[in-house]
Amino acid sequence: MATSGGGSSYRNGTPRGSLKVDRPLSVNSNPKTSVKSKPFSSSGPRRSSTGSIVSSTGAANDDAGVPGRVRVAVRLRPRSAEEMMADADFADCVELQPELKRLRLRRNNWDSDTYEFDEVLTEFASQKRVYEVVAKPVVESVLDGYNGTIMAYGQTGTGKTYTLGCLGEEDTAARGIMVRAMEDILADVSLETDSVCVSYLQLYMESIQDLLDPSNDNISIVEDPKTGDVSLPGANIVEIRNQRSFVELLRLGEAHRFAANTKLNAESSRSHAILMVHVERSVKGKHSALSGENGNNAHIKTLKPAIIRKGKLVVVDLAGSERIDKSGSEGHTLEEAKSINLSLSALGKCINALAENSVHVPIRDSKLTRLLRDSFGGTARTSLVITIGPSPRHRGETASTIMFGQRAMKVENMLKLKEEFDYKGLSRRLDVQLDKLIAEHERQQKSFEDEIKRITADAKNRISEVERSYADALEKDRLKYQKDYMESIKKLEEQLVNNQQKHGIEKVSVGHKDGGSALTSNIESPMISTIKEVSELKKLLQKESLLRKAAEEEVNSLKSQLAQWKMSETSENSKISKLREMLEDEARQKEKLEGEIAILHSQLLQISFEADETRRRLDRGGFGKVPGDLDSLLSQVKHQQQESGNGEKASIAKLFEQVGLQKILSLLESEDADLQIHAVKVVANLAAEETNQELIMDQRGISLLSMTAANAEDPQTLRMVAGAIANLCGNDKLQMKLRGEGGIKALLGMVRCRNPDVLAQVARGIANFAKCESRASTQGTKIGRSLLIEDGALPWIVQNANNEASPIRRHIELALCHLAQHEANAKDMISGGALWELVRISRDCSREDIRTLAHRTLTSSSAFLSEMRRLRIDY
Ligand code: ADP
Ligand code: MG
Repeated sequence: MATSGGGSSYRNGTPRGSLKVDRPLSVNSNPKTSVKSKPFSSSGPRRSSTGSIVSSTGAANDDAGVPGRVRVAVRLRPRSAEEMMADADFADCVELQPELKRLRLRRNNWDSDTYEFDEVLTEFASQKRVYEVVAKPVVESVLDGYNGTIMAYGQTGTGKTYTLGCLGEEDTAARGIMVRAMEDILADVSLETDSVCVSYLQLYMESIQDLLDPSNDNISIVEDPKTGDVSLPGANIVEIRNQRSFVELLRLGEAHRFAANTKLNAESSRSHAILMVHVERSVKGKHSALSGENGNNAHIKTLKPAIIRKGKLVVVDLAGSERIDKSGSEGHTLEEAKSINLSLSALGKCINALAENSVHVPIRDSKLTRLLRDSFGGTARTSLVITIGPSPRHRGETASTIMFGQRAMKVENMLKLKEEFDYKGLSRRLDVQLDKLIAEHERQQKSFEDEIKRITADAKNRISEVERSYADALEKDRLKYQKDYMESIKKLEEQLVNNQQKHGIEKVSVGHKDGGSALTSNIESPMISTIKEVSELKKLLQKESLLRKAAEEEVNSLKSQLAQWKMSETSENSKISKLREMLEDEARQKEKLEGEIAILHSQLLQISFEADETRRRLDRGGFGKVPGDLDSLLSQVKHQQQESGNGEKASIAKLFEQVGLQKILSLLESEDADLQIHAVKVVANLAAEETNQELIMDQRGISLLSMTAANAEDPQTLRMVAGAIANLCGNDKLQMKLRGEGGIKALLGMVRCRNPDVLAQVARGIANFAKCESRASTQGTKIGRSLLIEDGALPWIVQNANNEASPIRRHIELALCHLAQHEANAKDMISGGALWELVRISRDCSREDIRTLAHRTLTSSSAFLSEMRRLRIDY
């Protein structure tokens, strides 16, 4: 920084600004005066003809911002009365060259330094001109949505407050920058869509106090971490709607400032006064730099948030720049003196750092620099006015003020438009629109409902009207017909009377011939009696027609009842047929399940055999060894079982081979009912094969079957046992043995179960046995009466000879025929009533062969023949 004779000795930290260095103008030849020059019209936003800010690149809203150097004007205060006197003999320490925008600071009588400023304002410069030069461009920027700062710096008494804060109440031409700025702002904004709010603060000894409410002290600064914007949420913000209220507010702030400082025992010149004006303007979408659409679609347009531009104007009346005596002679302690000066010296340091393009700018060192971070090196358009006095006595302070101004001129800001979408506003607007639509909808719905009600009522009225007129018409018709009826009756009566009269006249004429004494009575009496008769007949007719009506009604009701019954009958029938179908299905299902159960049983049996086998092998010590053939057999059996019912039989035969009959028979004694049934089934199946029959007998099969027969209750088991025994009964060789082991008794014992299937098997066994016996007798191997008769079978045979179940009946018929073939049985058969049965069979049996057999048997037996003769049975 050159303060003297340094030529171009200071560094230029702002490469964009063109720096002109003139040769120092000096009264002597020694070129010691330096001229620092910066053109006032440096780069930065300019006000375009349409009033919007356009940058050199033409972009209205460039995110990077547009460069805008801090502009500095110097203002010289006229000599005060005191100075007129005191400095009368001395020349001013400064000489202004406003046309060159230069200021010469006298060093001594022969030497001076020359400085160039953006604007040089002489002691004659009017307040209006000062406003227009220093403040107006900043105010216009604020109105366009930029931040702006106007600041006055200088020694106490040089006119900072006069320049910024003069209210101009006595002399309207003396109105300062604050008043004029608000005048311009209020003239430009529209109070319907825009808002202007003001805070007024004082910063003294690093404490911020609200000048609009002095009790609101020590207000803290809040910084937005994203944008870096600073705000004072604790400060009062007053909305300004007219100039008068603003001036009032300024006056109030001034009064509070004075009172507060008196109370603190501080001079007003030691505090900084800060006026903040927040201007929020709503921008129509299509004019906005943020809007990319032309808004053709009205619907979209309404949904588009408006754009809000938020400019903030900060006007700072700084504390006096003179140095405070460090000795504290002004009544301050050293600490106080430091604190009083802290913000101002921090501002100086920051401006130095910015002017020199230092990496570190100590913004956080003081409240003032934090508050003004946007004003120097930030995004605001900043204008500084430095105020100086003419007195050579204060030359040192004047020089230092000038140097401050010179350095501030080098600070480059990047102006940025502060605009954002007004989502809140949009939301409000949409809410209003929504409410309107809701109300409209409600109205429409109501009118719709009313219309429906009206139509309904109308329809009801019409219906009742029609009903009424219909009833009227009916009544009219009825009356008309009644009248017609009565008239025709009357006519008929008249006719009748006429007829009778004619008749009477004829009679009279006849009576005349007879001699006319009873003439009148003769005419009258037949007429009266005829009328009476007619009325009686009429009555009868009426009665009859009533009766007929009643009868007809009854017939109708009976008919409808009949129809109903028919209908219900058909539905019942369909139900029944459905149920029948279901029943058949169930039966089929049952059969299938039974088949499955049988297969499962045989599997179970097989498994138990297998287990037994394994156990046996284990007992023999053959642990872990399964004979290969058994294994394959089992799988074969399983396979066969899956194939068909024949598989079951085959598997039984195989099982039989494999496990031995003994084992199967032993299972007849099993505790497990299922196992027992199954064993019975197997035995029954085996017994069907002649080859197995002897084997079964050898293994005490009959006694085991007999035992089962005696113990079993269920018809299925009994049927199978009876079937097995019946099969054995058909074997000629086993007759004696079977009988000997109680086979016949067992068979007969099973008739206690009245199940026809069981009885059929019993009958079959008896027939088989009788057939074999008969054969043996014929061959001569059997003598004496039948073992069946011996074992008491005859009574049951006779009893069931005419059983209604044909399988039973057939077997018994055959058995009787067989028994009857041998004379040895004849006596018992006759005494037991079997003869009668045979006679019946020979006459009535539906099967011809049996009938013939019975007949032949009867006629070939002498015993039967003689008995029949004795009983006079025709043969
Ligand atoms: P500061 O605020 O810098 O301490 P003031 O604004 O209080 O100084 O000014 C001190 C005195 O000088 C005031 O009486 C003021 O009216 C007067 N004054 C300052 N500047 C001018 C000017 N340009 N023209 C006329 N009077 C001025
Ligand atoms: Mg002042």
